Amino acid sequence: MKYCPRCKEIKPLDEFGRNRSERSGLTAYCRPCHSIATRETRRRNHGSERNYLLKLRYGVTEDEVERMIAEQAVSASSAFTRSLSTWTTTT
Ligand SMILES: [Zn+2]
Repeated sequence: MKYCPRCKEIKPLDEFGRNRSERSGLTAYCRPCHSIATRETRRRNHGSERNYLLKLRYGVTEDEVERMIAEQAVSASSAFTRSLSTWTTTT
């Protein structure tokens, strides 16, 4: 069992993800908390999770994509812009 300082609950070890950088080999937070904390960090550092994914996958920001669509550099119906709209529903 391991204490999660975020939700302040003691949970079984398999509720925690693996993390080599932690001495315990497990993430500091339980899985649900860890994914929330990761998302919050991305929002803080990148503006939004969508922005983070854009930068990660395509090296562009949301603003740049908006401009590309406005300038019709990319089609609003392209696979690229369709994949963007699916990300907005996951956050
Ligand atoms: Zn937790």
